[in-house]
Amino acid sequence: MDKETEYTIAYRDVKHPRLEFKTGTLLLILPKTHKNPKQTLEKYKKWIQRKQQTINKALQEAKTKTINQTRTEKQLKALVNTLAQNYQKELDAHINKVYFRKMKTKWASHSRNNNLTVNTLLKYLPNDVIEYIIYHEITHSLERKHNERFWRLINKKFPDYETKEKDLLTYWFIIQKTMNNPAQPSEVLNTNLNKLNEDTS
Ligand SMILES: [Zn+2]
Repeated sequence: MDKETEYTIAYRDVKHPRLEFKTGTLLLILPKTHKNPKQTLEKYKKWIQRKQQTINKALQEAKTKTINQTRTEKQLKALVNTLAQNYQKELDAHINKVYFRKMKTKWASHSRNNNLTVNTLLKYLPNDVIEYIIYHEITHSLERKHNERFWRLINKKFPDYETKEKDLLTYWFIIQKTMNNPAQPSEVLNTNLNKLNEDTS
């Protein structure tokens, strides 16, 4: 483990070790029976360092960006609904319903019964980022996993999707800070360690 990497360990009722990144600090969540946290951290060292770098970059970027404070929730809903309509046609995909609510750890999600839930905090984002999020979620109705096929579909519309993913993290940090929230874990960064090998996102 890197000497500069600060981390906290918490023992909880979980089946598998899990890592959470709050803004800048690492929380290793372990099953209560777990004996060797050092070994776990060592095993995922490279991955942790990569994530740490991603976070540091996003925190740097956050200083250069500002959020949109003028869009209302009503305007956001109208925009998202229009985008969802257009992208369903474009992707030949089908979504049952779009829900809006304030969420603590993610921008949006696609459920197994084909509904989208959109975080109302999206109103603070620039249009291009909102477009990316909606397109990303609707693509999940065609491919659930973040696998090669998924990113190929995304790449057709957003060849700069890697930049967009970074922007999402940057804006996440800006919004958490602006709202004066205690650092919330970002879903983008949290990983169930036993899934690491199959899902490298
Ligand atoms: Zn996704």
